[in-house]
Amino acid sequence: MLLYENLGINDAGHLTIGGMDTIDLAAEYGDPLYVMDEDQIRRNCRTYIDAMTKYLPEGSRPLYAGKALCFKGLYPIIDGEGFSADVVSPGEIYTAIAGGFDPAKLYYHGTAKTDWDINYALDNNIGYFIVDNYNELEALDKIASERGLIQNILLRITVGIDPHTQEKINTGRIDSQFGVAVDTGQAAEFVRRSRELRNVRLMGYHSHIGSQIFEIQPFLDQVDKLMDFALEMRERFDFTAGIFNLGGGFGVQYTELDQPISIEDNIRQLGEHLNARCRETGFPLPKILLEPGRSIVANAGVTLYKTTGVKEIDGYLNYVTVDGGMTDNIRFALYKADYTMVNASRITQPRSYLCTVAGRCCESGDRIAEDILLQKPERDDIIAVLGTGAYNYSMASNYNRVPKPAMVMVSGGRSRLVIRAQTFEDMIACEL
Ligand SMILES: *Cc1c(COP(=O)(O)O)cnc(C)c1O
Repeated sequence: MLLYENLGINDAGHLTIGGMDTIDLAAEYGDPLYVMDEDQIRRNCRTYIDAMTKYLPEGSRPLYAGKALCFKGLYPIIDGEGFSADVVSPGEIYTAIAGGFDPAKLYYHGTAKTDWDINYALDNNIGYFIVDNYNELEALDKIASERGLIQNILLRITVGIDPHTQEKINTGRIDSQFGVAVDTGQAAEFVRRSRELRNVRLMGYHSHIGSQIFEIQPFLDQVDKLMDFALEMRERFDFTAGIFNLGGGFGVQYTELDQPISIEDNIRQLGEHLNARCRETGFPLPKILLEPGRSIVANAGVTLYKTTGVKEIDGYLNYVTVDGGMTDNIRFALYKADYTMVNASRITQPRSYLCTVAGRCCESGDRIAEDILLQKPERDDIIAVLGTGAYNYSMASNYNRVPKPAMVMVSGGRSRLVIRAQTFEDMIACEL
């Protein structure tokens, strides 16, 4: 029921995270509240670093995908664990640098970079651009040439793999809006052209096949496709890619129905497969980059809500309403994402109350779960949604003028505020 190693139940019968009582945290910092466990984030990072060091070619490294959770205070943590980072917008670049992150270790993604964006990234000496398309390639080369510099790049290519994940987080198919497709011949042209340009330096390829993937096979297929492509490019254009960036996507457990995966084992299989393919083909071992987002932060987070009421519609269903919802966690409204929820105030009671959990917005889609079992709540109980560390705060909005909640980081039995709750004044601060 508790899913993750960092959650527990204390003598008071309350849910704990990183050993801290969630009811006390909500009382101290207010609700709703995002709680992140720094020690769990670090453990997740170490799993990647250790396995990549052991099984992948030298110089391989993980890039933390900031879109999963991006705020200043996170960057010193992932930096301390030896991660580089993937950023997708000038806003994420700004945040990472504000958090003290070295821009040389940033890899800049995005399918719709404007000239302004390109200039911003160059002003900030970004390590790598991950170039999504021809227009960006030409624009980047032109701007870099005006500045008299040569920018390191990877090309984002689409290898045509369908990892059988949810449609909206599936990005590796030929018809994806991201990258340039191998199967249409356009990716080869992309490589040819970037080799011709003088102010970009092609280092390798990037491909991201999707998110929340539980099998290793799609990643092995991805290595095969990249290898075939790299061999062909070596043959045709005398370009030997030194970097394969395989993107993110390792799945995390959100409910008891998800089978947890072993990241270490996945990386071991990736490494063995890559070594075998390189031996077979004589292609020199490329450095491997991985871009985990979800699997670094998801299981390190819980969201705490206060129950505002229980509404029983006889003969239909029961609603439990809470003081947050789609504004702080839009994933259920967006793609029916499942979470595990518990009544953190009464966690030792039987989980037998069938209900739908609704948020505070004037929107019938504002739900966080439908037809789940909870320990029957009363007004003012604290409901905890588990596994909300990824794609919750980073997707939060001010719909209905609901301020964004605070975030607290727990570590070693202590807590500290890392994001204060938005105020009403914050929400009108840009309004003239
Ligand atoms: C979303 C995304 C990631 C991170 O994916 P996770 O599933 O969170 O690990 C990494 N790279 C790219 C290009 C992405 O779009």
